Amino acid sequence: MNDNNLTWAERDLRHIWHPCSQMKDYEDLPPIVVERGKGVWLYDTEGKKYIDIVSSWWANLLGHANPRINDAIKEQLDRLEHVIFANFTHEPAIRLAEQLTEILPPGLTRFHFNDNGSAAIECALKMCFQYYYQTGKPEKTRFLCLSEGYHGETIGALSVGSMDLYTKLYRPIMLDTVHIDAPDCYRCPYGQTRDNCACPCIEKAEAAFAAHAKEAAALIVEPLLQGSAGMRVYPPLYLKKLRELCDAYDVKLIADEIATGFGRTGTMFACEQAGISPDVMCLSKGLTGGYMPMSVTCVTEEIYQAFYADYNEGKAFLHSHTYAGNPLGCAAALAVQRILREDNILAKAKENAQYLTAKMTETFAEHPNVGEIRHIGLIHAVEFVKDRGTKDPFAAKKRTGYAIFRRALAKGLLLRPLGDVIYFNPPLTITKAELDTAVQIAQAATEEILPRR
Ligand SMILES: *Cc1c(COP(=O)(O)O)cnc(C)c1O
Repeated sequence: MNDNNLTWAERDLRHIWHPCSQMKDYEDLPPIVVERGKGVWLYDTEGKKYIDIVSSWWANLLGHANPRINDAIKEQLDRLEHVIFANFTHEPAIRLAEQLTEILPPGLTRFHFNDNGSAAIECALKMCFQYYYQTGKPEKTRFLCLSEGYHGETIGALSVGSMDLYTKLYRPIMLDTVHIDAPDCYRCPYGQTRDNCACPCIEKAEAAFAAHAKEAAALIVEPLLQGSAGMRVYPPLYLKKLRELCDAYDVKLIADEIATGFGRTGTMFACEQAGISPDVMCLSKGLTGGYMPMSVTCVTEEIYQAFYADYNEGKAFLHSHTYAGNPLGCAAALAVQRILREDNILAKAKENAQYLTAKMTETFAEHPNVGEIRHIGLIHAVEFVKDRGTKDPFAAKKRTGYAIFRRALAKGLLLRPLGDVIYFNPPLTITKAELDTAVQIAQAATEEILPRR
């Protein structure tokens, strides 16, 4: 067969297995062939444009084809594309580590470079286990985590994630972790509201710590925002209480800020809003502006020192990824830091977030199928339900969110849903006019699938 007679989409479907997709869905929704991007816009080969309101899976922080990030990568490319990171180092990595020390919550001063988010999580889990192994508590071999959490796709990361339909399947090959019922502020079993609550649900965590802390090396959480769970937002107080439990029971706290880091929640890191420092923090996605696969596992001096010894004591962290410390990723990350500082990005995003909250409320609050509009930083989510009173969801089989996504796509908005939750998590540089357009399209798509009666 002559490939030239086929469209790009047809050629794609002959070979490519797309992530997190039922490939049969592509029969009537072929992949969109993206030719270029600029700012929040993606342009396909047919000349159609889309607002990338999900930041290409929450990664793109400062717009596509950002001229300053592009230049930084090009400049680095002509100098050094990659080098082994054991025994060797380079200026971009050193500068990045120094800058992260400046902006991170206090105490995180040591950095292990990896090449994606899941890898940063695996690294964190292994480090916490080994830390206790080498400091006299080898019995700490398990991990605590929140139900509905998401920390990546590799076996370890999956094991500390949600036990839902899609992960349950892998149960036989997963680690034996302890799942704590996470806060569910929309359907709060304690009848509290998010903004005015003493977090009685912490009792679930207290019980889990009492029962399992002795055998637990770490608790891993997504601070303030459980992204994959449907952009579930919980109060800073809950995170603060988790920190206290970790201290009381000698369990390390791993903050997975892969999605929340670098201004997504309104502050540079979500942990700041609870006034806490974790023992370990995982960063990726926005770290490089969503340009390069790179991640960092940030730890305290105390953890670092537990590995520091004569080689023959066998205490080294013998863990590596080929592309650890990739110089192009570091160059992108440095450019991101410079832009965040020089352009006062967080302050502008904060103002636009308030604008968006008002806009979303005005547009969606009265819709009979809107259960909740929740937001943190620029991230805004709308949860659709069958019945607002009972908060009963639509039957999953109806794929309501997916239907809205398809309508929005046809109208030029990339609104990939989480079940029946649609959300905005745009590049922080999005303008008010672009937000207006996105809200308009989201509304039109919603009304077509869920007409008001
Ligand atoms: C995306 C994400 C990960 C996994 O990162 P990958 O680079 O996709 O492996 C882990 N944790 C959170 C909170 C994420 O959003």
